[in-house]
Amino acid sequence: MKEKYDVVILGPGPAGLQAAIHAARAKVSVLVMGREHKSSLYKAHVENYCCLGEEKVTGLELDNGDVVEVDGVFIETDKQQQTNVPGIYAAGDICGPPWQVAKAVGEGCVAGLAAAKRAKKIKK
Ligand SMILES: Cc1cc2nc3c(=O)[nH]c(=O)nc-3n(C[C@H](O)[C@H](O)[C@H](O)COP(=O)(O)OP(=O)(O)OC[C@H]3O[C@@H](n4cnc5c(N)ncnc54)[C@H](O)[C@@H]3O)c2cc1C
Repeated sequence: MKEKYDVVILGPGPAGLQAAIHAARAKVSVLVMGREHKSSLYKAHVENYCCLGEEKVTGLELDNGDVVEVDGVFIETDKQQQTNVPGIYAAGDICGPPWQVAKAVGEGCVAGLAAAKRAKKIKK
């Protein structure tokens, strides 16, 4: 396994996989992390479906100290699916309703392309 990737995707659900496809098509290296069978697509019964959990939070702290802003239970993004932290993108159910595959893959596509574009710019 490579030690460094241009784009790292957390969560192999519809949003994450679509982001991976589009980032890879843009010819950047991509790593997808997570467990496929945990996707909500594979669940017959779901409690507290969607979101970050039961408790409302104000942010997700990253290892480097950056904090991704959260609006109660959903991650906020701009139109390129970028969070308030440059280079960190979010897509799919985690961004809020409607909780549909079509929305997840659409946002995943946008996020994957935006992440790949950023990675290429940084590598230049
Ligand atoms: C019972 C049910 C029926 C549904 N029916 C339909 C339908 O008919 N039509 C429709 O369009 N939509 C339907 N949906 C909604 C659809 O499944 C979701 O909108 C879609 O799966 C969202 O994709 P996602 O990639 O955003 O999230 P998910 O599919 O939830 O994928 C998230 C991924 O991230 C991973 N992950 C989460 N946390 C971590 C972590 N900390 N570390 C690593 N990995 C992590 C999970 O394992 C998972 O693989 C249904 C959902 C359910 C539950």
